[in-house]
Amino acid sequence: MNTIKIKDWGLNINSDKAPLIIAGPCSAETETQVLQSCKGATEQGAQILRAGIWKPRTRPGSFEGVGNVGLPWIKKAGNKNGLPVTIEVANAKHVKEALDHKIDILWIGARTTVNPFAVQEIADALKGHDIPVLIKNPVNPDLELWIGAVERFLDAGINKIALIHRGFSVTKSAPFRNQPLWEIPIEFKRRYPNIEIICDPSHICGKRELLSQISQKAFDLSFDGLMIETHINPDVALSDALQQVTPEGLGQLLKNLIRRKTLTDNVDFLANLEALRVDIDSLDRDSIELLVKRMEVVREIGRYKKENGVTILQMNRWSKLFDDRVSASIDAGLSEIFAKALIQVIHNESIRQQEMVMNAES
Ligand code: PEP
Ligand code: MN
Repeated sequence: MNTIKIKDWGLNINSDKAPLIIAGPCSAETETQVLQSCKGATEQGAQILRAGIWKPRTRPGSFEGVGNVGLPWIKKAGNKNGLPVTIEVANAKHVKEALDHKIDILWIGARTTVNPFAVQEIADALKGHDIPVLIKNPVNPDLELWIGAVERFLDAGINKIALIHRGFSVTKSAPFRNQPLWEIPIEFKRRYPNIEIICDPSHICGKRELLSQISQKAFDLSFDGLMIETHINPDVALSDALQQVTPEGLGQLLKNLIRRKTLTDNVDFLANLEALRVDIDSLDRDSIELLVKRMEVVREIGRYKKENGVTILQMNRWSKLFDDRVSASIDAGLSEIFAKALIQVIHNESIRQQEMVMNAES
């Protein structure tokens, strides 16, 4: 993907101070609230200021944002602090208002990325404009949909693009509001290493107590920045009160994060690391070979079952095998969660292999 990196967006964003910090309130509520929250966020190290003007809410009747009247407030906050500002746009009308008010950066919300019609409408409205766009992951864990949204903007000639990982709305499971499913942004980065990803711990966590754990993890996974909702008085915020922090809270959070280097030129370290990686490469090859052999035996059993008119799945056997393998794995030192997932995935493939054998003409 031919995207332009944040430092080259022409917005004077100091990427040496990386990772990039985007902060500001979930929603613009009053001019004073926006100005105070953004001033505080800037003092604590924010490099881009945010505020939601139009808010996508789950149920009607909750606070749906102040609308157009808030646009000059966030712009003024940007001018006063010398920082670029970003707001969410969800349709062509929002885009027009944002461009008219010279908003520096747009973001696409998770409930918009999920809808290709809406994404296309926004991309079309941006044709001919040179403005950066941050694209949040869709609410559902669908990597292709996320990639598709980026492609729609690229096709419209927008190439100042970065991603925001804000977690996924899958079966609710404590403690997070949205499950991080780190493997999805990591796979995006693996396929398109050039594109930067900012983590949004606020919407992943849903409560401020969890922010530091997710922020640290994002740092340790080499994310390129953080977006943290920051409000001058979070407890009375009109949206997302539980997850917002005060500017001081933001400062404290950032101060406590440990930044590890992604690279080092220490030759001993590099040599030892390389040796360990050679071990891993060879163990992975062995594991693959073992799985290939296992699947050969699985197909052999499948043929045998077919000849004797026996079903693929015998519940007793599967149940016993599952318990046996999980406890053997745990005894051998693997974690229970990993052992269960591993056995399950191997079994699913074994069933699939036997189905192929059963359905093959012979
Ligand atoms: C937000 O950033 O305030 C927001 C509405 O986020 P999301 O689209 O991730 O829910
Ligand atoms: Mn929010």
